[in-house]
Amino acid sequence: MGDKNNIKAVSLDGSQGEGGGQILRTSLALSMLTGRPLRIENIRARRAKPGLMRQHLVCVQAAAAISGAEVEGAELGSQQLAFTPGPVKAGDYRFAISSAGSCTLVLQTVLPPLLFADAPSRIELSGGTHNPMAPPFHFLERAWLPLLRRMGGEVELSLRRHGFYPAGGGEVTAHVVPQSGGLRPLHLSERGELREAYAESLVAGVPRSVAQRELEVLGRVLSWSGEQLRTPAMRQNEGPGNVLMATLGFEHVTEVFTEFGERGRSAEEVAQRLLAEMRPYRDSTAAVGPHLCDQLALLVALAGEGHYTSSEITEHSRTNFRVIQQFLPVSFRTEALEGAWKVSVAATMPGSG
Ligand code: ATP
Repeated sequence: MGDKNNIKAVSLDGSQGEGGGQILRTSLALSMLTGRPLRIENIRARRAKPGLMRQHLVCVQAAAAISGAEVEGAELGSQQLAFTPGPVKAGDYRFAISSAGSCTLVLQTVLPPLLFADAPSRIELSGGTHNPMAPPFHFLERAWLPLLRRMGGEVELSLRRHGFYPAGGGEVTAHVVPQSGGLRPLHLSERGELREAYAESLVAGVPRSVAQRELEVLGRVLSWSGEQLRTPAMRQNEGPGNVLMATLGFEHVTEVFTEFGERGRSAEEVAQRLLAEMRPYRDSTAAVGPHLCDQLALLVALAGEGHYTSSEITEHSRTNFRVIQQFLPVSFRTEALEGAWKVSVAATMPGSG
């Protein structure tokens, strides 16, 4: 397969750094955004079941659908992929992910290129909306989307039906309206004053007492009042599923932390795990937590420059930074501040990257 228009292909080692599926999703998005063909070897080599799993394959297929890409190696278990994109086409897309797969990981792959297409797009996704190891819908809507909008991205997300792991069956719709000026840089040093804090336990096809027990632990440890502890009404046929979320709304940013109930894990343990997940962020002065740190990286790089502070910088984020640097003329710098890390993105001089 020849590389179109002699644009320099990017070759990646999928086992680098954290070595997971994020390398694939970020590089597919960037291949489409830059038009540069992509070659990946050793896909997910560090995982117990290496290669493309079904959810990764759907990301490749969705990327090929919006860009008319020529693809080699798009098979279950494949550890190599060659992806040569054509121009990204705006349109009405529908991607169905098999029951256990995450809608939001597919969105993570196709949304950035569609943000820079020449017309609006509508994307309907069906599958999981609240899966472990993927951005839960509420995280995207409350934490990630407002920052994307601040950067000038015009996107609307709606949750039509919840889909919990492993049953899936959820539905998410995204409307994307590209802006001629691209994205504006983000400068996010401070979280600002706390304006609201609340926890929600979603229970569908699971006894309501599970939600009450989870919220009771959070209320006691965080000193949150009854009004801050919520059990939103759910259609019970959307289950079975239980998701516990804590939302911290600050002046400049909102963070959402999520934990999942599962068979054999007590309600109290789910709450304790959520508290453990929130702790490093609550103890820090950073604007964002580790998942936003991860998911802002591509947007800030696409804006050409910017910075933000994060409570942690995971190996997952560092790997993501390295992949982005292989496609775009930007460099990521991380530095330890008191109580936070600072991530800065700067444009590199032509020829220096
Ligand atoms: P695999 O390990 O199967 O190869 P992966 O490395 O891509 O896949 P993860 O490291 O779990 O899997 O990351 C998936 C994505 O989901 C990342 O962008 C991560 O930031 C995001 N994510 C995972 N959990 C959460 C959460 N609780 N809240 C927000 N985002 C999350």
